[in-house]
Amino acid sequence: MKLDVDVLRYLTKEDFRVLTAVEMGMRNHEIVPAELVERIAALKHGGTYKVMKNLLKHKLLHHDASKYDGFRLTYLGYDFLAIKTLVNRGVFSAVGRQLGVGKESDIFEVATEDGTVMAMKLHRLGRTSFRAVKSKRDYLKHRSSFNWLYLSRLAALREFSFMKALQEHGFPVPNAVDCNRHCVIMSLVPGYPLVQVKQLENPEIVFNTIIGLVVRLTEHGLIHCDFNEFNIMIDDDEKITMIDFPQMVSVSHRNAQMYFDRDVECVFKFFSKRFNMSFHECTADIDGTAVDTDDSGRPSFTSIAKDTGFLDKELSASGFTRKDQEEIAKFIEGGIKKDASSDDEDTEDDEHISMLNEANTMGVDSLHVADQTLQHDEQVESEGNVRTCEAGPSSEP
Ligand code: ADP
Ligand code: MG
Repeated sequence: MKLDVDVLRYLTKEDFRVLTAVEMGMRNHEIVPAELVERIAALKHGGTYKVMKNLLKHKLLHHDASKYDGFRLTYLGYDFLAIKTLVNRGVFSAVGRQLGVGKESDIFEVATEDGTVMAMKLHRLGRTSFRAVKSKRDYLKHRSSFNWLYLSRLAALREFSFMKALQEHGFPVPNAVDCNRHCVIMSLVPGYPLVQVKQLENPEIVFNTIIGLVVRLTEHGLIHCDFNEFNIMIDDDEKITMIDFPQMVSVSHRNAQMYFDRDVECVFKFFSKRFNMSFHECTADIDGTAVDTDDSGRPSFTSIAKDTGFLDKELSASGFTRKDQEEIAKFIEGGIKKDASSDDEDTEDDEHISMLNEANTMGVDSLHVADQTLQHDEQVESEGNVRTCEAGPSSEP
């Protein structure tokens, strides 16, 4: 199956109208009956069916007749909706090579007209853990809005909100540029994930900077929860940037201490193994003040954590409801992680990645999407849930 930009470039206004209709239907249907798609899209002369056929052909929709006959968006379909919206907003105009495949995301380069390159993170919450959770039927019984679309969007919004807030508080994080659906646009971080680094000029300085970060986060009321060598970027000057925070929790979380200790332990373990460091005392300091540590030199959670309300405040400012926070927290805790089984969802996903990669080998220019067809944007802008990152779909029964 071959896919390239041509698909995005040649999708018509009607195509996007139908794609958006399926997305809207998915707010309260796991699979959207064709009649509902037709009703929402309201194309003249029953054009919806023809369009759906085209979308199926390009794997933007998936036909599912397992429970009843209907359609759902594929990851790719959802990607296209987000990409098109962001292109229409003028955030970027081209998609380039893949930068990374995370556990629950795909990261691509994107570029603006003037050649500025940024990073686009497409959240795939549910890729590894959705089925694990789905199997717990009880847990889902009362949650019609539960699906990967919702979770991925929530994860993106969380990440975007945290990134912005952290940036404003002087933390070394990427610059949060924009967010739509499950997609976050941020500045490109120079360097590599720490896990790829075999040698450091100043391992002690780097170590203390990193532990200092964990501590300073905690002083602001936050715990990263996935703080490790995969989520710390380092450049040639050994400057650190922290990435990947949709899963952060408040220090008032009931398992806060455990998450904090785990984050700290990851860093200690990595530095001791990789750089052969031994730790008698953690010298991490914040503004010249030494950090309280326990006997093993690890920073001590109880003496650092102060619930400043930072998390709640910042999140509610970005339109997060407490329910949203609880939903994702439940998911993150309940679903974690790794469901190794592979079924058609995985196959479809692998195929999607290979399709995107195939497109990427064609280079940034060939993926240029800012052409005339993208001027047909009112549909996505006006009927999609766009403009601002909203906090998940309405959860009507
Ligand atoms: P996941 O949540 O799936 O682990 P991450 O945010 O950790 O996703 O990103 C996965 C990988 O993508 C990172 O390890 C890094 O190599 C790359 N990456 C992520 N964000 C950026 C960025 N802003 N700039 C450059 N590379 C990035
Ligand atoms: Mg990561």
